[in-house]
Amino acid sequence: MPLSLHDLGLADTGFSFGGSYIMALDSGTTSARVVIVDEFGGIVAQASRPIRSIYPHSGWVEQDPTEILASQIAVMMEVQFKSGIHSDRIAAIGISNQRETCVVWDRDSGQPIYNAIGWQCRRTADRAEALVAAGHAEAIRAKTGLMPDAYFSATKIAWILDNVSGAREMADAGRLMFGTIDTWLTYNLTGGLVHVTDYTNASRTMLFNIHTLDWDDELLELLDIPRSLLPRVTWSSGDYGRVSSEIMTHTPPITGVAGDQQASFFGHCCFEPGQAKNTYGTGCFMLINTGERAVTSQQGLVATIGIAEGGTVSYALEGSIFHAGSTMQWLRDGLGIISDVRDTAQIAASLPDNGGCYLVPAFSGLGAPWWEPEARGALSGLTLATGRAQIVRAACESLAYQSYDVLRAMEADAQITLDALYVDGGASRNEFIMQFQADLLGIPVIQSETQETTAIGVAFLAGLSVGYWEDREEIKHNLAHGQRFDPQMAPEVRARNLDGWHQAVSRVR
Ligand code: ADP
Repeated sequence: MPLSLHDLGLADTGFSFGGSYIMALDSGTTSARVVIVDEFGGIVAQASRPIRSIYPHSGWVEQDPTEILASQIAVMMEVQFKSGIHSDRIAAIGISNQRETCVVWDRDSGQPIYNAIGWQCRRTADRAEALVAAGHAEAIRAKTGLMPDAYFSATKIAWILDNVSGAREMADAGRLMFGTIDTWLTYNLTGGLVHVTDYTNASRTMLFNIHTLDWDDELLELLDIPRSLLPRVTWSSGDYGRVSSEIMTHTPPITGVAGDQQASFFGHCCFEPGQAKNTYGTGCFMLINTGERAVTSQQGLVATIGIAEGGTVSYALEGSIFHAGSTMQWLRDGLGIISDVRDTAQIAASLPDNGGCYLVPAFSGLGAPWWEPEARGALSGLTLATGRAQIVRAACESLAYQSYDVLRAMEADAQITLDALYVDGGASRNEFIMQFQADLLGIPVIQSETQETTAIGVAFLAGLSVGYWEDREEIKHNLAHGQRFDPQMAPEVRARNLDGWHQAVSRVR
């Protein structure tokens, strides 16, 4: 095998053989991003713009769908301008997106009939609870892999139909279209030619049967959502139409679509059962590949479609923790004991151990695997020797302990043993936390080289579809990993740490 440009350290320099590129759109909650990826999986250009959120009432979160679209197109233009790589050299486009957020628009005018309702929006919590109270939870879980919750799209769509003036009549007359953000973007980028989503996004709506790979008529009836609103559902790597010539002169094809967590899962090449990734952002998002089995969790985790590429579906268990990077921000903004979150690794590592001090950051309840929404956070084990460094260390450790609990729950549910954990996200740059995570889990923790794993993942999906890359093997060969952390902690120290943490958690409960 000859050395690649990657091996030579040239892949990220913008140097490439004048060939073609993949453009990846990452339509996130707080920003619209676009990156251009070369044949070695290196990023040669990128641009982004912030996206606003709107908070009309406490607990309600909306966004302007037109702003999302306009920002995404503006960034597509900007990145071409900055890089000099124009649409004639874009072989394919991939789109990854914030999941669950939903848009409903008028089929004739293309205008949204209401703002996008954001994934964080809690306005339909009562509706979701009513589904549970009426005894539908098990059936919903069996079909969709999800527990009824306001988080997923279904109750948000129902809310729009029930509360926006005239919406119900329009829906009954077949005059409305629904989409998650990927669908909204592809519809508009193709000049309205396609109304489509991919299996990973569909699997987060709570309307999609993840076993039959189709919208579920019983759930549609239960929520009173006409099928005519819904997009066609297809593979993450496939034909999503061409970008219209109004937007890009040479009309490249859109050939990859995936929800952001699944895109990053693919970007880490978690192709085999037992492979898992954890994104350490504001919160943490973990996915573990469970292969051909959609596992029913005994611990409140959700089953979802992890990968939908190459004619087969790989299922995944998904878990999240609410407060990860946000705990670091709290040290800075709430407590004021650090000035920069990047200093936390060094402060934590300045101590030989945690001195028995534990922070349980249950600021808004305990999530998986405990599920105690009313629990609140605690700092325990304080002595007169406890100072700023111990608290910072306890905060850093809390990210690893919480992830440990979720990952162990996943292993138990799936009857699978993790062999390595692939990590990305802002707080994955904290070397102390990553080493501690490897120590707790007893397996290697492997950083992504790039911070753009989501965009890279959907670029891979788009590129595979057009033969830009031949197969998964070629992608794996191109994938550059960052730092690797191997477990070093003595078993008795690990056991003592975990015991201290679980005692702290039980006090909070
Ligand atoms: P999101 O996509 O959720 O906005 P990012 O992946 O951009 O999150 O990560 C940002 C989060 O990571 C912030 O909450 C920040 O506090 C945290 N963070 C960033 N760098 C570090 C670091 N070196 N150590 C610990 N936390 C960090």
